[in-house]
Amino acid sequence: MIDVLIIGAGPAGLSAAIYVERAGKHAVCLEAMTVGGQIVNTPDIANYPGIKKISGFEFSMGLYEQATELGADVIYEKAVKIRESSDEGQKFFTVLTESGKEFEAGAVIIATGAKNRLLGIDKEETLTGRGVSYCATCDGAFFRGKDVAVNGGGNTALEDALFLLNYCSKVYLIHRRSEFRGEPQNLEAIKDKPNIEFVLDSTITELKGDRNLEAVVVKNKNTGELREIPVSGLFIAIGQEPDNGAFSDVAALDEKGYIIADESCTTKIPGIFVAGDCRTKNVRQLTTATSDGAVAALAACSYLG
Ligand code: NAP
Repeated sequence: MIDVLIIGAGPAGLSAAIYVERAGKHAVCLEAMTVGGQIVNTPDIANYPGIKKISGFEFSMGLYEQATELGADVIYEKAVKIRESSDEGQKFFTVLTESGKEFEAGAVIIATGAKNRLLGIDKEETLTGRGVSYCATCDGAFFRGKDVAVNGGGNTALEDALFLLNYCSKVYLIHRRSEFRGEPQNLEAIKDKPNIEFVLDSTITELKGDRNLEAVVVKNKNTGELREIPVSGLFIAIGQEPDNGAFSDVAALDEKGYIIADESCTTKIPGIFVAGDCRTKNVRQLTTATSDGAVAALAACSYLG
């Protein structure tokens, strides 16, 4: 029987593991993909208090080493269901994984983060890996010397554009509004580069190309004008969505699919806690994810007694 089973080994999950271990209990993280979550793809983190600048990968590895050196285990399994169980009046939880394994734990913390939002247009899926990408740091180097587009107006899109400007002959930054959601410093860093073109108030309506991406078609929302932009790469950075469907029977979800919880990180079921980007909150940042991890871990340890 595991003390605290944590679903997800991103910043929230690994921070929870650190706090569980330091509280003298044993933590096991189940991770469906790679440790670190989405922050792994961020080239530079410059807003984490106490650390002036660090890459997302290095930050994630630091969290992983800290958690595992304290005694936490990370197991690469995708959790697909949480079942409430009991044995001689003792309540516990059974977590089932996609590969058919079962893990029993006294308390569970859901820290599944969020996944990339899709544009939802034709050919997006078939051209993924053939020009369409959701990760500039992973795939940017394949587009050295080529023209590419980035879609989005948040920090991810601005940072992706900055990263790609180093490799690509031209970067079109396509955003559906004329103002950016991302931080002014990030916009400042790219706005005067010679090889950037802002395509604002515009949405992508079509992807062209059969084997590989050849162009995107954008529509200007003010004029209705359609413009075809020839590019070999499109980096879609239009935010994230939660992936909590598997837990909807044990945790209440809001209309967007986030697990309903406040700063206490507790769910409607005692013993099940939630931390990080997968819960309802106003600010989804690295700092709020790691602090959720601490809060959920301490709540889980106090629940176990
Ligand atoms: P985000 O802040 O949610 O921004 C998503 C952007 O995509 C918005 O500009 C949005 O437009 C646009 N968008 C959403 N749906 C769209 C659609 N269907 N079609 C076209 N455009 C669409 O997402 P993010 O940039 O991935 O950032 C997520 C969180 O991580 C944020 O809190 C961000 O600050 C944080 N982050 C931090 C760092 C860092 O500190 N180093 C780096 C990356 C991300 P509207 O603006 O019109 O809504």
